[in-house]
Amino acid sequence: MKMLGKTSKVLLAAVLITGLSASAMAKDKVYKWKLATTWGPTLTPFIDAPKNMAKMVKEMSDGRLIIRVDASNKHKSAFGILDMVKGGQYDMGHSASYYWKGKDINTLPFSTMPFGMTTPEQNAWFYYGGGMELMKKVYKKHKVLAFPGGSTGNQMGGWFKKEIKSVSDLKGLKMRIPGFAGEIMAKLGLTVTNIAPGELYTSLERGNIDALEWVGPGMDIKMGFHKVAPYYYTGWHEPGLDLQFLVNEKKFNKLPKDLQAILITAMKVSATDMYTQNYDMSATAWAKMKKDFPKIKVQTFPKEVMDAMKATNKKLRAEITKGKPLLKEILDSQAAYQKKVREWTKMSDFLYLKDNL
Ligand code: CA
Repeated sequence: MKMLGKTSKVLLAAVLITGLSASAMAKDKVYKWKLATTWGPTLTPFIDAPKNMAKMVKEMSDGRLIIRVDASNKHKSAFGILDMVKGGQYDMGHSASYYWKGKDINTLPFSTMPFGMTTPEQNAWFYYGGGMELMKKVYKKHKVLAFPGGSTGNQMGGWFKKEIKSVSDLKGLKMRIPGFAGEIMAKLGLTVTNIAPGELYTSLERGNIDALEWVGPGMDIKMGFHKVAPYYYTGWHEPGLDLQFLVNEKKFNKLPKDLQAILITAMKVSATDMYTQNYDMSATAWAKMKKDFPKIKVQTFPKEVMDAMKATNKKLRAEITKGKPLLKEILDSQAAYQKKVREWTKMSDFLYLKDNL
């Protein structure tokens, strides 16, 4: 400072002052964001994940980033989340990646795949096995950033009015089962329908459909399916359904670094918490269902049926990846990781549980 002339000293002081005030201004600026979800206002635990995330962000940022969460009844576009985040009408979204498979087939595998990975396995793939990088690559084209947004854990195969003893018992059944698994069931001779959630119970009760899948005891209990369809089949089609947080890339880049870090941390914590919350919900709901409706039969599909599902799955996977190198890259990455991680799952959880049930 001693060496500087008077003018330089004045200039330096000006730089310091403006520098400080700019930084103070950045600290004072409040960012108000909006998030759109696919879920209705009472769909626990799906709706809780974005709400918890927004609450954490508000507290950790000392009120500098406020995120308003709009449920589907507010924006009336449950399946338009990707478009709304892409277009900037919403800064963020919370939904399931496989809903955009019609727009971009590459988004499909980030939800779950039949006979794919369980939640701990898929989380390991996302965070440490290259999954996040692949998801980034797919969503880059939409100018959206995608992050894991919570998992349901292993889903149940669904409620059936009649027992399934063979592949021929499946033929002609009407079932609500969406996505890639629905395509497998259609190949096995079922009529696959998609019905609005509010009409599912009545459809099943009146026999308009013979079976349906939803999630697991924690979310199924409120729907009441167990009162009209006693066979509760174990899962195969959604072994670890992951939801996603979507963030408009431009908006994210405009956030100061500390708010970006807070947002990323809150998304990760709330995603993990949703899985934990749903695990508890299912344990609690199942205890109640079992007690109140002792006639519910938990069944596993017979080997013949499972083998037919697996063979069809393999065939359909080969068909959908034809001419789609990025989709093939993602599915191959998942398959290779599953092969590696399953060895550990077998040695750890599987063998432990096998002898301790
Ligand atoms: Ca489901």
